[in-house]
Amino acid sequence: MGKQRTPVLTRRQVEDLARFRPIPYFVTTLYLDIDRTVPGGRARPGALKGLLREARAGLEARNLTRKQRQSVEADLGVLERIARDTPARSGKAVAAFVASGADWEQVFDLPWPVKSRLLIGETPNVRVLAAALDEHPRYLVVLTDRAQARLVGVHLGRAHQLLELASDVPGQVSEGGYRGNAERGIDRHIEDHVGKHIHKVAEAAREAFGERDFDGLVLGGPAESVAALRDGLSPALRPHLAGEVPVEVTAPLDQVAAACETLAVAGRATRDAGLIDRLVEAVEATGTGVTGLAATLGALRRGAVASLLVAGDYDQPGLTCPECGFLSVGDEKDCPACGRGGMRPVPYLVREIVDRATETGAQTWHISSEPARRRLEARGAIGALLRFRLI
Ligand SMILES: [Zn+2]
Repeated sequence: MGKQRTPVLTRRQVEDLARFRPIPYFVTTLYLDIDRTVPGGRARPGALKGLLREARAGLEARNLTRKQRQSVEADLGVLERIARDTPARSGKAVAAFVASGADWEQVFDLPWPVKSRLLIGETPNVRVLAAALDEHPRYLVVLTDRAQARLVGVHLGRAHQLLELASDVPGQVSEGGYRGNAERGIDRHIEDHVGKHIHKVAEAAREAFGERDFDGLVLGGPAESVAALRDGLSPALRPHLAGEVPVEVTAPLDQVAAACETLAVAGRATRDAGLIDRLVEAVEATGTGVTGLAATLGALRRGAVASLLVAGDYDQPGLTCPECGFLSVGDEKDCPACGRGGMRPVPYLVREIVDRATETGAQTWHISSEPARRRLEARGAIGALLRFRLI
């Protein structure tokens, strides 16, 4: 991957990032909110200074080799430079991942604010990015009426035009009143043209969706045209339909983006509620679900986790065995799995759990919409849907 700065962010990029492990070096992750009130709109230096001070102090307590320590110290300098070079116009926050020892850095300009933090680990800490992707799906928006269409890509609050289509459809001639054979013939002729136009739009949508990393398809335009397009979509595209937005074909891009945001918020609330319903049913009715940190960790150890549900950015400290990697919520001195002494503290146990679950192919859902989040918090803020029933 080398050194990169990129304004776009896709699920694939985040998955690739999560897998990056520059052994023996560590990766330093920085999420930094940009203060738009500072003249020139630079990243807020005070916040970064505090984070750097904490990180340097934390390094003392870690068991690092000289090479590892030098790499992390170099990372902190690189992050200062990245923060200094980040103008406000590029976004509301910046996410940077650096492993100086491996000569590697990735910077993402984020169009939404984040909680500033600095984390050092064996892999990039992508939780904030992954959660943001969950919250901001990448949509292909297809706006169509009887003769014109636009394809718009919407991602992270921004919309950009991909394609404009205009078909040659004759105007309607007969508006009410007596309609003779001639008029009906003309109407049929017009409908043929409209049908061809819709077919063309459906085809363009199929091509555009296949080319890029979209999460969902959104339709907009007059109800009649949207209904025709929905019927004309290729079967492969239909399962990706995420909804419809009430915007005209000629709507400004900002309006398209805003309508998609509203759609995403509603979609998220429905999805989150559905996930919590499934979890509750799995726990109470079928025995294929667990809730709470200890039970979730137990299920993970047995390879049973199919999906992980985490309330917002819930986390808490725990312990890990430096020998076998055993994770624990307890306060054991010796590893319960391999018996070795000297369990080490991990500051973000839930993050470790998410990483391990991801490695086993499980999917993680961050539940941040209400009331789903409160329902999950009432059950320990974390839970899992299982691949099989634990006996
Ligand atoms: Zn162990």
